[in-house]
This record gives sequence, C-alpha cells and structure tokens, in this order.
Amino acid sequence: MVLTSTRIGQMRSGSTATVGMIGGGQLSRMTQQAAISLGVDLHVLAFHDDEPAIRAGATMHEGSHLDAEAVSALAAATTVITLDHEQTPTETLAALVDAGHAVHPRPSASEYAKDKAFARCQFAAWGLPIPAFEVIDANADAANAFGDNHGWPIVLKAPTGGYDGRGVAFIDSADALATDTLAQNTPTWLLEAAVPIAMEIAVLVARRPSGDSVTYPVVETVQEAGMCRELVLPARIDTDLAEAAAALAVDIADRIDVTGIMAVELFVTHDGQLLINELATRPHNSGHITMEACRTSQFENHLRAVLDWPLGSTQLVAPAAATVNVVGIDESDSFAATLPLALEDPTVHVHLYEKGSRPERKLGHVTALADDVDAALTSAHGAVDRLVGR
Ligand code: ADP
Repeated sequence: MVLTSTRIGQMRSGSTATVGMIGGGQLSRMTQQAAISLGVDLHVLAFHDDEPAIRAGATMHEGSHLDAEAVSALAAATTVITLDHEQTPTETLAALVDAGHAVHPRPSASEYAKDKAFARCQFAAWGLPIPAFEVIDANADAANAFGDNHGWPIVLKAPTGGYDGRGVAFIDSADALATDTLAQNTPTWLLEAAVPIAMEIAVLVARRPSGDSVTYPVVETVQEAGMCRELVLPARIDTDLAEAAAALAVDIADRIDVTGIMAVELFVTHDGQLLINELATRPHNSGHITMEACRTSQFENHLRAVLDWPLGSTQLVAPAAATVNVVGIDESDSFAATLPLALEDPTVHVHLYEKGSRPERKLGHVTALADDVDAALTSAHGAVDRLVGR
C-alpha cells in the first residue's frame, strides 16, 4: 500500500507501535517478520513495491532516502525512525532529531558505521585495538610510504559507501595504485596494514536508549572476496577470547551510545589478538543465524531496543548452528523448482528475500541447527547446493 498524508500520525487500530525504517531490503524484510509477531506496524521508505520488505507486507512510503522530505514524511507517520542501511545523509537524520523525532540509532552513532575513516580515528583516540591505518587524500607517494612502513600488500578502502567488499582493495605494490579502479575513483583513502587473519568474528549487541543491553554469543564469519558467505555459531574460539570480544563490543556500544542492534566485526590474528574491523549500527548479516539459533532474533531485539522495550534472551537454543548465504550466480536464478529439494533436510531453515538475481547478489540464506558445528555446516551447505542446483 502506498500511503498519502491522510494516514500521517495515525496508528493502526490494534497495533502496539509504529516504526519507520529507511530502506526496504532484506534486513527490513526480516524486521517485518519480527514486527508481525509483536503487532508492530512497520512503515518502510522504499523505491518500489517489489522491494523485499514491501513484498513481506510492510507499509510502503514511496521515496528515496536521499529525499529529505520523503524521510521527514516517514518520521511524521511513525513513533521512531530506524535504518536498513547507512546511506541516508547525516544532515537528514540530524534534522529529524532537531525536529523532535526519535531516531535510533542516533545520527552520532550511525556515523561510526557510515564512515570507516571517522571510526578508525575515534577508535585510535580511545586506544581500542585496530589495524595500523592512515587516512589521506588520494596520494600515491603517501600510500607508497605506508606500504614501505607496514609491508605490502596494503588494504585501501573507500571510507564510505562500501559493502560486501566493494570499496576494499588489496594493493600489492606501488605500481598497482596507478591502475586500481578503487584508487582512481576514491578521493580519500583509508589505508590499512593487511592483517594476518586467523578468523573473522562478529559480536552483536542490542542496546536500549536507557543503556540496557544484551550481547549475542560470538559468531564466526567466513568471507570470500570480501563478502560474508557463511556463519558458525558458536565461533570456534576459546572462552576467554569470546569473553574479551563480547566485552569489547559492549564497551564500543556504550562509548558510541548506540541504540538498536550493533554488530562489531573483528579480526582474530594468528597470535590470538582481537582487532576491530568495522561496525554496523543496524541488523547485520552476521546476525541472521540468530533467527533460529537464539531465543530472540536480532530483528526482534532491534525493534524492542529502538522502542525502548525490554530485550529478549540471546541464549542459544541448540548446541551449534551454521548459516550459508545464497548468492546470485546469474540473472536467471530461480528457486521455484529447487526449494522443495533444499527442504528435504528437516534441520534446515530457508530464507529467500524475493530479490531479482544478479551475480554476487545476496538472495537468501539457509540456517541449520545441529549437535555440532560440522554437522550444521554440512546440512546448510547441502541445502544451498540443492537450492542453486549444484
Ligand atoms: P565491507 O564494508 O565491504 O564489508 P570490510 O572493511 O569489512 O568491507 O572488508 C571486507 C573484508 O576484507 C573483511 O571481511 C576482510 O576479510 C578483508 N579485510 C578488510 N580489511 C582488512 C585488513 N586490514 N587486513 C586484512 N583483511 C582485511
């Protein structure tokens, strides 16, 4: 349904609350699933009525996150504004706060997810563990000096706008800078030393405006070409490291005063050190596994947190779980015929986002619960292989 101003400010009879989400992708879609259970009326700012959240029944406000008036109209129709992505201009969100609207996460917190260079500088000032880095205006000489100091390859990142590894380049030598597309097209470079990564993990925290928070068990994330491909819960690390990662995440959540779900992505180095990679201040791919593996999903706790309602338990409901993302191979992918095959394993849960297929586009995910991690991974991979026809 496309809303006009006539409904502005009204809450649907029987609803418990009205939440506005900017963006209608898969995160918004799975938030809608949680909203249904809680009787929350989720309004979504989306470009088209075929976006994943709208197909799942969220109330549509047609428009762009880049249009301040459209964002403001969404705010006027809802109790609290929250985010499905980081692309809304900070000034637009700050103007809502100035006008008295509740925005969670607050713009000051979402800046840490939006701008990797800003986050790196602030974490450095706080003495938090991060890779060696430098922020420079595109400048080959400075990049060469950085590589010579820290060793090649170096990692070059666009400070804003990247996702799924787009906006991250490994630069092998000074010569490669001249031809790398990212280096050519990015005016400000965040340079990082390439970390010897033993494992990547993520910690999710759900935090209320009052400061109350809950932490999810540490998730292991497996990346391929910069994109998260699979998740393992619990992460295969020792308890001390898991506790240190959780404590670091809560410390960051408190420092940035985040509200809603925050994910902290961390590198575990070969010598067992934790280094912060980046933050997301919204539901996150690493939290999809919580939908079946934890008592309360990240999506439900996100809604509870932004509405300042009591948070749900994050306890695991099975000894182990694994999630494998379903990633597009080409434009012709369709799961109509293969879904029943994927479902032959009764331990798997399939989530499809009803997105048009494109190569390397996240189209869904499969989670399996099991007695151990290996069995969960085998089941989840088996189901994804059958789904994509491998
Ligand atoms: P995105 O925002 O696109 O997810 P990230 O900054 O998280 O990009 O980087 C994507 C992936 O690239 C990481 O998950 C990691 O595998 C690799 N990576 C990023 N920074 C470094 C680094 N400094 N050293 C080694 N690998 C890195």
